[in-house]
Amino acid sequence: MTFIMASNNEDKLKEMRAILSELGFSAVSQGEAGISLDIEETGETFYSNACLKAEAAMKASGLPAVADDSGLMVDVLNGEPGVRSKRYGGEGLTDGDRNMLLLRHMEFKEHRTAKFVSSIVCVFPNGDIVAAEGDCEGVILREPKGKGGFGYDPVFFVTGTGKSMAELTPQEKNRVSHRGKALRAFEPKLRDYLKKAGQASC
Ligand code: IMP
Repeated sequence: MTFIMASNNEDKLKEMRAILSELGFSAVSQGEAGISLDIEETGETFYSNACLKAEAAMKASGLPAVADDSGLMVDVLNGEPGVRSKRYGGEGLTDGDRNMLLLRHMEFKEHRTAKFVSSIVCVFPNGDIVAAEGDCEGVILREPKGKGGFGYDPVFFVTGTGKSMAELTPQEKNRVSHRGKALRAFEPKLRDYLKKAGQASC
């Protein structure tokens, strides 16, 4: 079965494709399917935003669509930037600008625990939904470290690895990341759904 990945974020697409193919699924991006979508993320939860993106891609392509909505939740900032991680500080900022803004907001904070969260949602053409979540715990560093990954990776020290997310190789990141965990939690749910859907249609 081929899925369409409902994202325009090249970094995310690379990670999703790597993990999905490791799990034995083939996936095409919206661009590869000739679809151009820019969905406004108006939901108040990662799950509702992932549903919005997956539903739009499924409708445009006719294929089952997998979306990830994700973000960084910082405890001392009451879960911010959260669902607004992509837009933190407003439009037109680079990832580097957003990291600097976050570090400024964290300047005098001693308590620095945070987590990345990913909500994976697959919407099928018949409207059925299979979903899973994953998270990755860590702390906000005092300055950026590492050159890999994207987004907030350089300011996020991953618990248990001794490294920032941006210092991990792509394979190491996929093993510990919120997105990797969510996609691996999604796999048995999807297989179970496909088995039952197959039986229902016999
Ligand atoms: P969205 O899911 O498209 O709304 O965007 C999620 C935003 O959260 C990204 O633009 C990043 O700023 C941040 N984010 C999500 N996952 C990661 C990650 O794996 N590393 C770093 N930042 C991330």
